[in-house]
Amino acid sequence: MSQKRVYTFGNGQAEGNATMREVLGGKGANLAEMNHIGVPVPPGFTITTDTCNEYYEVGQEKIVELLTAEVDAAVAHTEKLMNCKFGDPKNPLLVSVRSGARASMPGMMDTILNLGLNDEVAAGMVEKTGNPHFVYDSYRRFVQMYGDVVMGLKPENKEDIDPFEAIIEKVKEEQGVVLDKDLSVESLKKLVELFKKAIKDQTGQDFPTDPKDQLWGAICAVFRSWMNDRAILYRKMEGIPDEWGTAVSVMAMVFGNMGDTSATGVCFSRDAGNGENLFNGEYLINAQGEDVVAGIRTPQQITKIGSQRWAERAGISEEERVAKYPSMEEAMPELYKELDALQDKLEKHYHDMQDMEFTVQEGKLWFLQTRNGKRTGTAMVKIAMDLLHEGMIDEKTALLRCEPNKLDELLHPVFDKAALKAAKVITQGLPASPGAACGQIVFHADDAEAWHANGHKVIMVRIETSPEDLAGMSAAEGILTARGGMTSHAAVVARGMGKCCVSGAGEIHVDYKTKTVEIGGVVYKEGDYISLNGTTGQVYAGQIATKEAEVSGDFKELMDLCDKYTKMEIRTNADTPHDAQVARNFGAKGIGLTRTEHMFFEGEKIKAMREMILADSVEGREKALAKLLPFQTEDFYGILKAMDGCHVNIRLLDPPLHEFVPADDNVQGQKDMAAEMGVTVEEIQRRVHSLHENNPMLGHRGCRLGITFPEITAMQTRAILTAACRLKKEGCDPHPEIMVPLIGIMYELKQQKEIIQRVAKEVFAEQGVEIEFEIGTMIEIPRAALTADRIATEAEYFSFGTNDLTQMTFGYSRDDVASFLPDYLEKKILKADPFQVLDQKGVGQLIKMAVEKGRAVRPGMRTGICGEHGGEPSSVKFCAKVGMNYASCSPFRVPIARLAAAQAAVEG
Ligand code: PEP
Ligand code: MG
Repeated sequence: MSQKRVYTFGNGQAEGNATMREVLGGKGANLAEMNHIGVPVPPGFTITTDTCNEYYEVGQEKIVELLTAEVDAAVAHTEKLMNCKFGDPKNPLLVSVRSGARASMPGMMDTILNLGLNDEVAAGMVEKTGNPHFVYDSYRRFVQMYGDVVMGLKPENKEDIDPFEAIIEKVKEEQGVVLDKDLSVESLKKLVELFKKAIKDQTGQDFPTDPKDQLWGAICAVFRSWMNDRAILYRKMEGIPDEWGTAVSVMAMVFGNMGDTSATGVCFSRDAGNGENLFNGEYLINAQGEDVVAGIRTPQQITKIGSQRWAERAGISEEERVAKYPSMEEAMPELYKELDALQDKLEKHYHDMQDMEFTVQEGKLWFLQTRNGKRTGTAMVKIAMDLLHEGMIDEKTALLRCEPNKLDELLHPVFDKAALKAAKVITQGLPASPGAACGQIVFHADDAEAWHANGHKVIMVRIETSPEDLAGMSAAEGILTARGGMTSHAAVVARGMGKCCVSGAGEIHVDYKTKTVEIGGVVYKEGDYISLNGTTGQVYAGQIATKEAEVSGDFKELMDLCDKYTKMEIRTNADTPHDAQVARNFGAKGIGLTRTEHMFFEGEKIKAMREMILADSVEGREKALAKLLPFQTEDFYGILKAMDGCHVNIRLLDPPLHEFVPADDNVQGQKDMAAEMGVTVEEIQRRVHSLHENNPMLGHRGCRLGITFPEITAMQTRAILTAACRLKKEGCDPHPEIMVPLIGIMYELKQQKEIIQRVAKEVFAEQGVEIEFEIGTMIEIPRAALTADRIATEAEYFSFGTNDLTQMTFGYSRDDVASFLPDYLEKKILKADPFQVLDQKGVGQLIKMAVEKGRAVRPGMRTGICGEHGGEPSSVKFCAKVGMNYASCSPFRVPIARLAAAQAAVEG
């Protein structure tokens, strides 16, 4: 049988179902599923995601040929169920053409409504419905959408408004009305003609009159929209593969713009911003779907409670609210009841928060879409915990429902309460996406990107956002819009990104040309600071102080759940007592890496360090090291104390020594150093020059320093163990681990170990106490991984330094990779930056082998990771799967790693 490319649905039956999202996209699969479970959906059909990939292989002409028979049959199927005919002026079928990838990509691809209209069909529909306003309103919308999406009529530059909007504004002005819905039939007809003319003038093409041509144009345009810039960017941000392709769903139109018994809306079974278990959403009477999401008219609330909360924020009295902005619950009570019951049914069916679109056509409710709703990090955690408490999902599912990287949002600073009280509220909008954001005002997405790239924090201020603004939204700290409700594009996308957003701040007046925004009589320019509270919708002048977030409530409960299931501990990489404490608060169970080199840079320490580097003899070095010893002892004392009772893995000096002296081109620094040391500049320059290496990363660093200068190893060991002995005497419980870096040969470790053990004996004798400690090594050179069984005869533990291991396995310099990595990603030679996401096939193979070889010699040997990958979820999962005991990462990634580790255990 030839390949099936088209799946029909309608009237309670469907060829597909919810499990087929790979084939039908999320939208297509759920449209099919809704038919199976008795949710009213207009009939139609879905063209598979694979067909989209085929489109890119064979092109438009061939794909139309391949699809024609199946699409014709599916159209006939839809016609039959709707009892009307596509292109028949007497009894026409109109359709919508919608995109739908496997993963939801809200607003990133294109949709066309009211397809099938031409002058004859419009005239026929007027006759049939007796409602010319509705018909020409639909017609002008269709020409506008088709002209934009399929024929490419767009604004010429960023300050210009959309050419169609410009025409609408002109016609409204001529007729003397403010709202689109008040346009007369004559004006609507005029819009159709003016739109068609503008398309012809700008593109040179006539607007297609044959509905079949329109349909093919629209289907192929949706395929093309898979590769538009914003969709590509969104996929990059969300890690969605380009190969997935989009499905196309073609559905019979139902109309929300047939008059006052018709409406359209978007709703969520729970709050996507804060996770509250409250049905919510927005709707518009006598409107079509795009009106709600595009933010052109500010929509009304669906529930009464939502409406009351909205009015309170907007400063609108209850009387005025009821009269002018009633909720759907009040205005259409019977339909509301039906909607509420169906949303509940869908949530229970999918066991997750649903984001739904619906239309009411002359009193009959239809669902156009349902999907698991995008949500903020806060909502993600609360919803998972609530669903668990409600018995809708089990603990393991709750863990898997949370995306580790999204926890990052919960760790962002929040406004300091006192500072917030003192700050001046300048206006109020809708709390579209929670969080605290301060930054400088910019008005355009590309400016947001450019300013961000130059190190500025920016707030993007827009009249409304469109999907084109995605890159700017991602670069901004927060987004403020004049128009658009809680379900507007800006709000949905911002929540998905976890980006603070205040939308629909109706009192602000944005002028793109002068790059200013007027708020309450004050004009703010590009570059001025404002602050947004996305949780309340309040906007403040200037910057407001923030404070660190904490792990409490649902977040804490989730973290406790992680501990229940995880098989791998999470430690932190920390070089100061403060960082150690922060990480402990986030649940770190110890330190996986303390880089001692960072301790040498402050004040007196760098002087003594330089003296040590400059010394020509062992005596000279020992003299300088004696100066460093008390500093190091204090540093280790602080860290071991902050991590009392936990393992603290301290690495001996690792970087090449030239990093501690002023470089060749820093003559002033060299002069200062000479003055400080009491030697000539020439002497300093001679020494700096002698430290020069062609490949310092492969040069005299790591354990090689300790081999050449054993006194450095001795001093550091003395400092670590003296600090630990002191703590023990004070009643603490220190557990130091001493780690030798950059081992490639077993004898390197053996010799360093002898020094460490010798010094340990001395210290214990001096201090009169002994403490237990371990000596381990980093596995960060391929040879170390290959000979891990030999190294394990000396090492009590392994810590995988995947930064260097990646560098040396790929042969990419850590410091120079940025010059060619973008090409490798672009050309798809690499899927991800291997310095961020562990290369499981290559580097991972070395790790797995080293763990196995090490444990073969030393059963149960402790292994961990301390490279940057220790905080990246997929890498953490890999480490868990190869049986590591811990992953170690920077303090702010500890909760993310905890969740990833628990997920690895649950996934098995
Ligand atoms: C590593 O190489 O992965 C590591 C943790 O050490 P550093 O980044 O300090 O070289
Ligand atoms: Mg390293």
